[in-house]
Amino acid sequence: GAMKETLGFQTEVKQLLHLMIHSLYSNKEIFLRELVSNASDACDKLRFEAINDASLFESDSDLKIRVQFDKDQRTITITDNGIGLSRDEAVEHLGTIAKSGTKEFFGKLSGDQKKDAELIGQFGVGFYSAFIVADEVKVRSRRAGLPIDQGVEWTSKGDGEFTVEAIEKAERGTEITLHLKADEDELLSGWKLKSILTRYSDHISLPIQMVKEEWDEESGGMKATGEWETVNKANALWARSKSEVTEEQYNEFYKSISFDFQDPLAHTHNKVEGGASEYTSLLYIPAKAPFDLWDRNQQKGIKLYVKRVFIMDDADQLMPAYLRFVKGVIDSADLPLNVSREILQESRDVRLIRDGSVKKVLGMLEDLATNQPEKYTTFWNEFGQVLKEGVGDDQANRDRIAKLLRFASTHTDTADQTVSLADYVGRMKEGQDKIYYVTADTYTAAKYSPHLEVFKKKGVEVLLLSDRVDEWMLSHLSEFDGKALQSCAKGGLDLGQLEDEQEKETKKKVEGEFKDVLKRIEELLKDKIKEARVTLRLTDSPACLVADEQGMSEHLKRLLKQAGQ
Ligand code: ADP
Ligand code: MG
Repeated sequence: GAMKETLGFQTEVKQLLHLMIHSLYSNKEIFLRELVSNASDACDKLRFEAINDASLFESDSDLKIRVQFDKDQRTITITDNGIGLSRDEAVEHLGTIAKSGTKEFFGKLSGDQKKDAELIGQFGVGFYSAFIVADEVKVRSRRAGLPIDQGVEWTSKGDGEFTVEAIEKAERGTEITLHLKADEDELLSGWKLKSILTRYSDHISLPIQMVKEEWDEESGGMKATGEWETVNKANALWARSKSEVTEEQYNEFYKSISFDFQDPLAHTHNKVEGGASEYTSLLYIPAKAPFDLWDRNQQKGIKLYVKRVFIMDDADQLMPAYLRFVKGVIDSADLPLNVSREILQESRDVRLIRDGSVKKVLGMLEDLATNQPEKYTTFWNEFGQVLKEGVGDDQANRDRIAKLLRFASTHTDTADQTVSLADYVGRMKEGQDKIYYVTADTYTAAKYSPHLEVFKKKGVEVLLLSDRVDEWMLSHLSEFDGKALQSCAKGGLDLGQLEDEQEKETKKKVEGEFKDVLKRIEELLKDKIKEARVTLRLTDSPACLVADEQGMSEHLKRLLKQAGQ
């Protein structure tokens, strides 16, 4: 019925509203970016649904976004003729937060305004950002295909409640009116709004229109002409040629798709033509890890378009899990418009696009590592542990990934992971034919491992590994540059030519002398160890535990036990 109903926001929305208004104030202009981006999404959705049902266009297929302001009423209005909202959709989408990871997000908030502001940015502020500048928001909408009398009006003062009411609305789509807070008058200017739009929304592929203004001698100010003008470039940024896009535009586009306030570390923009598949990709490496980076199922980076038509967010088939930090857009010329996630899984075109995109991302990382080592360090500290998953996940690119790995080492003597395998190989001793490493739960435990004693004595570098994924990664990385990777804690550690003749003789002699002692130890510990051996590895410690050559390392056993296996 036409009755007006008052409903409460979900608790998380109240929390988000409170936080946002207080911590995002210095970034308040983003509200326009968010509302325009929603309008653009709504038009994308309409175009997508209309592939199967052209009647949804209701004889108006000229999709566009309009931004107006009213000085007297002190309002800004954003209008689109996209998919619109039904009453139930308005209640659901404008009263709750449906995003996955919402719980984790609220768990991460620290109360520190600056840190939380960054997190909120990553989480995606969206529609609710309107309340940064508005003390009342009114949404009038009608979903495409519904009768004219099934429109909805949603209003809220952002104070915990909203109302919904049925209205008549002739035009399909959504109109959002913000009544500005008392001190936001500077937003009531065509020039100001236009400058925000060109800064944040220039890449939007639909026309964004404003009423054209002209200088008026009589009043000595700007005056509306009644004509509309398009204020953005209105063609998709990735479809433009590289030379037409400035660094700042690339960065702003990144921010608009990533919810990140910071500039990305790097981007790669490619048109692939003439081969087996034709597509454009624009891919970015963020400067900061998202709060849900550790969840391998949270792949939210890649938007898929087909011939400029938006198809889906989070197209996880287009990027392997170990590159889940990559953000960007892939626009295919070959895929069908009605492509589903199921089809994506089996498509040969998708495989080609993914393989090509992985190569571009690895290339971008190699370029950073070589030409901008500081940025590569930032990358490594944020995402290195995720990239390590690639050693096991992506056999075809294992060698390239191995070159990108960085470790702590006895050579640098700090916990910073800066040593590449190539650096290590370059410093190998005469006669050394293996890359030695130690794994432990922490850097400090690795650094003081008794297994290192003999290496210290001989001046041989050892990599110190303490990330959770390291053991697993090493089980997939047996060699680098023709040199075997060897744990210092395993088996009858053969130091090869590093062991001199005299040492070998000493060992034989001691083995003879201690035969009975070894036997006695083995008897005493028979349920706990497999054998007792004489070693020259130790210089300060009397004894240490080593794993079987083929067996699992002690550290991996512990990890598996922790994981409940
Ligand atoms: P997001 O865009 O990340 O989904 P938002 O908070 O920006 O989150 O928007 C919440 C939801 O509200 C959208 O997913 C969409 O369903 C709905 N919505 C917002 N603005 C519009 C609009 N102009 N037209 C249709 N639906 C909209
Ligand atoms: Mg949005």
